[in-house]
Amino acid sequence: MIDFKNVTKTYKPDITALKGISLHIDKGEFVFVLGPSGAGKSTFLKLMLREEAADKGEVIVNGYNLSKIKQRDIPYMRRTLGVVFQDFRLIPTMTVYENIAFAMRVTNIGEKDIKKRVPYILNLVGLTDKAKKFPTQLSGGEQQRVALARALVHSPELVIADEPTGNIDPELSIEIMELLKAINSVGTTVVVVTHEHELAHTYAKRIIEIKDGTIVLDTAMAKAVRF
Ligand code: ADP
Repeated sequence: MIDFKNVTKTYKPDITALKGISLHIDKGEFVFVLGPSGAGKSTFLKLMLREEAADKGEVIVNGYNLSKIKQRDIPYMRRTLGVVFQDFRLIPTMTVYENIAFAMRVTNIGEKDIKKRVPYILNLVGLTDKAKKFPTQLSGGEQQRVALARALVHSPELVIADEPTGNIDPELSIEIMELLKAINSVGTTVVVVTHEHELAHTYAKRIIEIKDGTIVLDTAMAKAVRF
């Protein structure tokens, strides 16, 4: 569950990246956050991860009020969501298996649980036979699936995909969207952040469009409202 209430974020010297935006995303929804470069999408993402704090307004993610959260609770909040970054952020010196196991190890999950969960997740994203490969031995689409697998280690309530089709070819982008749809179909909230109009409009899902730091369209309104 995501709640933004009149959220403003200003960077120094005086760039207002988000100008008092309000939105609500329910558990189980599949939402595209669409907008051109400079619209404020990365800022929206950073606020959800509490990499940045809002200057005004309130951000609530999976029950955590990020405007009031204590520093020591941030890691727990982050475990309730999984992020697939545009540049994948895989560790090049580790195999596919180790990349996923590592994400579990750093949060103190025991080896026994890791041995059970990693093969399960690899199977889920169709990478069982690539477990021993290193990231450089994989295609862009496969690397992205590793990134997705890693995002799923904590069984998150919410998965955020940042420009999921940016680094892969069109056929593979259909594949990754199908995986995200499958993840959503079991109740996980999915938020896809993208600048690709066509991607957002190909799927009959909710679209929240941001331009110049304001929401200009939200198809979840009674009728698609252009603000
Ligand atoms: P998008 O992800 O949609 O391209 P961003 O959230 O990155 O948009 O940027 C929104 C606005 O905020 C842009 O004008 C950008 O230049 C500015 N901006 C983003 N990050 C910073 C920063 N760290 N310092 C100053 N300005 C920033």
